[in-house]
Amino acid sequence: MSDIPDTHPRAASLRLRERLVEGLHAGIVTETGLIAHGRGEAIDYLLGERTHPFAERAVAAASAVLTLAAHPVVTTNGNVVALVGRELVALAEHHPRLAFEVNLFHHSPERAQRVLSHLRGLGLARAMHFSESAAPAVLPGLDSARRFMHPEGVGKADAVLVALEDGDRCQALVASGRTVVAIDLNPLSRTAKMAQVTIVDELTRVVPALDRQLLTDRTAPREELERRLAEYDNRAVLREAVAAIRTGFAGE
Ligand code: ATP
Ligand code: MG
Repeated sequence: MSDIPDTHPRAASLRLRERLVEGLHAGIVTETGLIAHGRGEAIDYLLGERTHPFAERAVAAASAVLTLAAHPVVTTNGNVVALVGRELVALAEHHPRLAFEVNLFHHSPERAQRVLSHLRGLGLARAMHFSESAAPAVLPGLDSARRFMHPEGVGKADAVLVALEDGDRCQALVASGRTVVAIDLNPLSRTAKMAQVTIVDELTRVVPALDRQLLTDRTAPREELERRLAEYDNRAVLREAVAAIRTGFAGE
């Protein structure tokens, strides 16, 4: 139970830490997951812990990518499940076209099962993991268990949403011809640079915003979504994110 008062100036940030610590104790988050969160948190601090216009543009592009895709898949890891498990359930309920697959940086069969059971317990019954497939597909360029894909999930995906993802896997997904949308607070990370669409914003703010945009785009003409993507410039988004961080450092 949280005893963080709403009036605490860092209440939102402290509650996210609490979710991760609970996830750690439940065996969903790893110790290194806490460290990865710290890196994101520091950048969010510099960004003023708010959604910037460059992130809104990236969310609009992300929604266009996922709406136009034949097989869009959301991949989740331990941190993601701990931070936005409930929001993912809502996303899944609102968007039956989206598949969900668990992929862990620190993989063990037990941990994968715990993450999967946790997600299913929240209501995301269709969450997948390669271990439940008789013939997992393999993503070239990776040598850990992260290379395995469920054939009905990332295996057949043409567009993949990754969050808090390692650069290696992002690179391998892009090299495989898939379109990658990344949620990553660090505009300098390999993931942020490799992805075709990078949403530089905090995960718990992004998922509900993406959910709303996907609902709006359901009735959007195909040409409008294609035009939005043609006009989208991910390099400009990353440049603006770096500039916003600089401004944060300047204390402005
Ligand atoms: P890369 O491998 O892409 O170069 P990295 O090695 O610096 O990145 P990883 O641990 O591989 O970092 O990936 C985690 C990424 O997730 C980091 O870039 C971090 O900034 C980001 N991140 C952490 N927590 C959040 C969060 N709550 N919301 C959005 N992004 C986050
Ligand atoms: Mg990394």
